[in-house]
Amino acid sequence: MEIGWCPRCNVPVRGKRCNICGSEPHQIKFHDLGDIRPASEYEKKILISRIPFKEVKNYVRNRIVLLSRQPGLDYRKDVFIDGFRFGTLEYVKNGRWRWRFYPSGKGAALMYHLTGHICFDIDSSKHLKGKKLKKEIDGEWDIMSSGNCIGVVIRTEDGVKIKDIYCKPVKHRKRASMKDAVRANIGYLRYMEKKGVKIIERNRATMAAFSGGKDSEVSLYMATLAGVSKAVFVNTGMEFLETERFVYNFADFLDVELIELHPDLDFWDLIKNNGIPTKDHRWCTAALKINTLKKLSGTMVDGMRKYESERRMHASQSKRIGNLKVIYPIFDALALDIWLYIKWKGLPYNPLYDMGYERLGCYMCPSMLNAEFHNLKKTHPELFKKWSRYLKSCGFSNEDILDGLWRWKTPPPKIRELIVDRNRKI
Ligand SMILES: [Zn+2]
Repeated sequence: MEIGWCPRCNVPVRGKRCNICGSEPHQIKFHDLGDIRPASEYEKKILISRIPFKEVKNYVRNRIVLLSRQPGLDYRKDVFIDGFRFGTLEYVKNGRWRWRFYPSGKGAALMYHLTGHICFDIDSSKHLKGKKLKKEIDGEWDIMSSGNCIGVVIRTEDGVKIKDIYCKPVKHRKRASMKDAVRANIGYLRYMEKKGVKIIERNRATMAAFSGGKDSEVSLYMATLAGVSKAVFVNTGMEFLETERFVYNFADFLDVELIELHPDLDFWDLIKNNGIPTKDHRWCTAALKINTLKKLSGTMVDGMRKYESERRMHASQSKRIGNLKVIYPIFDALALDIWLYIKWKGLPYNPLYDMGYERLGCYMCPSMLNAEFHNLKKTHPELFKKWSRYLKSCGFSNEDILDGLWRWKTPPPKIRELIVDRNRKI
């Protein structure tokens, strides 16, 4: 998967040309399921806190930071700055759970360009990448040089290892904000809107699902442009207060009628027979959301996107739930497109995004990343306590809960390796 980048304006470009300067963009490659998007305020703060150099912190603060998901177990993202892969940000267990960042070779070269810092220099030799050296460094990683090359070294048990190397000069690029990115993509955003509205009109949709998340916010907004005046909110009873509030406020803001539906049986009744909802036994979506939607008939707009997950990648562009036809006008959009659209229209969005959540749903959703679940402890301690108490009553230990083991009925072997083996150095 690729998106464009205008090196002159230092912004992502989704169209054929940058709409600010007219340049043809170069391409950024990322994983097909990476669903690239701008870092939230929360993520940018974490990233900056993990960088040891003041000059680099300031540089990052004033540039657009994009994140692309790496497939795997928890939070691991490729970090893009200035249109190249700057490094990796991840949430890992290494003794305890914490955030970790390390730069790519080119990221280290940019840091060197900004600071002049290197921890050591070695004689130029071939095959630097992967080389092990008997050197000591202070932190987990540092920047080294060899001839014209700049590299990043990471600490190992008995020295350091050259993780990546970059051997060309790196220039710094101009400051840029999301506002600039909107200007650079204005043609693409208009096209995306036109396409979405057309799909909604062609299907004669009469309502739009609205969960309080960014995707359904944009598809609901587009629906109003196509004349739809009803929003449907299925309140599972396990929503964040922020989400409920945002749903009510945004419906007011758009001046649409809000239809709030509740499942017939509540979550705490259902859990008695079904057990804990897990990634491999996810009865909750059908029981709480799908069954509730079966009460409706007609055509409903929904904000599902194919880049959200492997399963959705292969989904079709519409589906039926009982007498209800569901259509997806932003099926092909990346998370980046959604954020650009929100910024373009100046729309408010759910405050949870800036509080460290990237997918919003029930507060104890098993699809949550462990990074998000741990964040719940800080942002909503009472909800965290409530759910932990329930998990403990089912026999989970404190450590199992924090390791997120409750998210599987049968944890895959990979999880056992990575998490259950608690002394493993990553
Ligand atoms: Zn440009």
